[in-house]
Amino acid sequence: MTTQANAVEQIFDCAVVGAGVSGLNCSMNLRFENKTTILADTGQHPGGQAGSSSLIRNMPGFPGGISGPDLTVLMTRHAAEFGTTFRAPFYAGRLERADDHFVLIEMNGQTIRAKTVVIATGVQPRTLPDATKAGQFIGFGVTYGFPSLNQSRWHDTEAVVMGSGNSGAQAVQFLAGCNGCNVTMLVRRDTIRDSMSARVADEIEKPRSNVKLLYNTELVEAIGEVGKLTHLKVKTPSGEQLIKTDHLFVNIGGDPPTRWLDKDLVPVNNAGYILTDRDLPEGVWADKSRPAFMCEASPGIFACGDVRFGNFRKRASMSAVDGANAAASVVQYLALK
Ligand SMILES: Cc1cc2nc3c(=O)[nH]c(=O)nc-3n(C[C@H](O)[C@H](O)[C@H](O)COP(=O)(O)OP(=O)(O)OC[C@H]3O[C@@H](n4cnc5c(N)ncnc54)[C@H](O)[C@@H]3O)c2cc1C
Repeated sequence: MTTQANAVEQIFDCAVVGAGVSGLNCSMNLRFENKTTILADTGQHPGGQAGSSSLIRNMPGFPGGISGPDLTVLMTRHAAEFGTTFRAPFYAGRLERADDHFVLIEMNGQTIRAKTVVIATGVQPRTLPDATKAGQFIGFGVTYGFPSLNQSRWHDTEAVVMGSGNSGAQAVQFLAGCNGCNVTMLVRRDTIRDSMSARVADEIEKPRSNVKLLYNTELVEAIGEVGKLTHLKVKTPSGEQLIKTDHLFVNIGGDPPTRWLDKDLVPVNNAGYILTDRDLPEGVWADKSRPAFMCEASPGIFACGDVRFGNFRKRASMSAVDGANAAASVVQYLALK
């Protein structure tokens, strides 16, 4: 992968913001069409969310599943081998339209210039309210996201997983497979089937001696000593309870990091997801005489993956496909320009 120290003067065909699976697949496909492509990422989580997944089971071509780190390393290599220019860390803080191109501006003033831009910034984990005091134990028993993938780290632990989406389920499955680890899953509603894929829910509900599901249960407070989580106070239908635990893994969904975008340039909905295609408000199109492209938010600006409203099932496989769709649209757009 080419790492550019200074790309200020070059105007790329496309700048892709976010190197998760959608941005990686988008870049690889753009390079497949010989479009000059720069892929920028904060660099905090290589491969985005998928990079922390223990096993992705619905990726085409991997019938036995593939670990998130393995998948994202392969995808990064693929994009690199096709000639993607990679810029990280680059924290996009502003997007502006120049005469015939766009300028991405980082907090420290560094810029990237491109004829088209694809926003693939995914979602960032949602945090617990201050009242729960969970914030005091981050790094001391409370983790946002997935446990580290070193299984021996979790031997003989009492773990709690909060959140009943697919990522929470995956954390439960991973921890349940570690020697002597007991896992309790806190489920806010009376079912896991609204928020989890059906096949995953089937597996989670199979009775196991070291997995417990607590339905209609909410976290009230994280309790412990200095630097150590010891208990969680939870509210259940039969009253408040204390759960003894060393580790709480919080997977309660995410929010799209789109506040940095000018909403006149990139329309978003109330939750911050980028609107594209048929979801765009009336009158957004600058030129109604040309076809509307898939994933297009406004002329020359595209969005793909979890950050795009319309990509409803937030999954690695679907986000990767969305990235390929965005690439196809960029190629068509450039051809008509
Ligand atoms: C623990 C876990 C397990 C999962 N398991 C599965 C599974 O088994 N199967 C499945 O299909 N899906 C799974 N998912 C969901 C899947 O990983 C996501 O849907 C998918 O990875 C989203 O990809 P994305 O490229 O849209 O966004 P992301 O992966 O969120 O990537 C976005 C990237 O953008 C970068 N970024 C954000 N803001 C900026 C900015 N301003 N400037 C520059 N860069 C920025 C971030 O650093 C990040 O690297 C799982 C998710 C998690 C968290």
